[in-house]
Amino acid sequence: MSKRDYYEVLGVSKNATKDEIKKAYRKLSKKYHPDINKEEGADEKFKEVKEAYETLSDEQKRSHYDQFGHTDPNQGFGGGDFGGGFGGFEDIFNTFFGGGGSRRRDPNAPRQGADLQYTMTLSFEDAVFGKETDIEIPREENCETCNGSGAKPGTKPQTCSHCQGTGQLNIEQNTPFGRIVNRRVCNYCSGTGKEIKDKCSTCGGTGKVKKRRKIHVKIPAGIDDGQQLRVSGQGEPGINGGPSGDLYVVFHVRSHEFFERDGDDIYCEMPITFVQAALGDEVEVPTLHGKVKLKVPAGTQTGTKFRLKGKGVPNVRGYGVGDQHIIVRIITPTKLTDRQKQLLQEFAEISGNSPRGEQEEGFFSKVKRAFKGE
Ligand SMILES: [Zn+2]
Ligand SMILES: [Zn+2]
Repeated sequence: MSKRDYYEVLGVSKNATKDEIKKAYRKLSKKYHPDINKEEGADEKFKEVKEAYETLSDEQKRSHYDQFGHTDPNQGFGGGDFGGGFGGFEDIFNTFFGGGGSRRRDPNAPRQGADLQYTMTLSFEDAVFGKETDIEIPREENCETCNGSGAKPGTKPQTCSHCQGTGQLNIEQNTPFGRIVNRRVCNYCSGTGKEIKDKCSTCGGTGKVKKRRKIHVKIPAGIDDGQQLRVSGQGEPGINGGPSGDLYVVFHVRSHEFFERDGDDIYCEMPITFVQAALGDEVEVPTLHGKVKLKVPAGTQTGTKFRLKGKGVPNVRGYGVGDQHIIVRIITPTKLTDRQKQLLQEFAEISGNSPRGEQEEGFFSKVKRAFKGE
């Protein structure tokens, strides 16, 4: 099932302001709210509107959506199957998300678990070709002894008698200016609204235990330094039955001895002798995909660029493969034998010091003439 465009869902233009989006959302969410609208499909519409608003009201999420649109977790990258295993990767982000704010105050409301971040260092080649690997991350999990309740098996957490389950206490203070009511988090239940009389001995009443968990990660070919993958649902467990957070794997890619990467293109310098440059030659060039023969035409200048089409990096979103660019560097010999010197001297005599080796007036005689004012 293809998703409708979020702007279309809210009935606003692509450059709608925050206020316009908020207004449209208020109107539509009232219209389709399941408590008000009993028509068939209203529930779905309500969810769709809510989802659209959640994305478009958040600046970062909105700009990401504008750039990449809906992300289909089943589509993966480049047709590869990234859907299997642990929920699969849902998306690649080039930037980081900030942490979620605390919106709801009700301590009993379901809340999403915290997101986790894992930094992975990759070799240049692994980033180019992708790989599968297991990572171990320490994360909090619901305690199995008490099923996350924190109470000793056979007992149940009670509603906190100090805050009556609200998680907050009103502290009244009499001051010369009158009575001031301060509201603060209940210190008896730490804001959970629950009181545990008999604590679970495994987790000490927290309901959570730290565990190292192995997660299988499929790194798509073409991932680049600083990019990250979201592994949905592999963050910390939700609170009060809320969904788990996500795991973000951030990639650091090591540099290569002689390849340099710019997006999907690879750059490398290739030294050749001045004889090869002058006479032309066929040389072997290393690429990520193996050696390739390159024809250097006679009279090649230093700094000349050659392009090997399709010998670069596979695009991480599956849009083809980049190129490899080769920049020729002509190396001037530093140690010459007598015989070599002799031949070069002969060469110079025949060429008459012309840099192009042609039988014409040389550069230096031109310079000399200019200074003499001839
Ligand atoms: Zn426990
Ligand atoms: Zn309390």
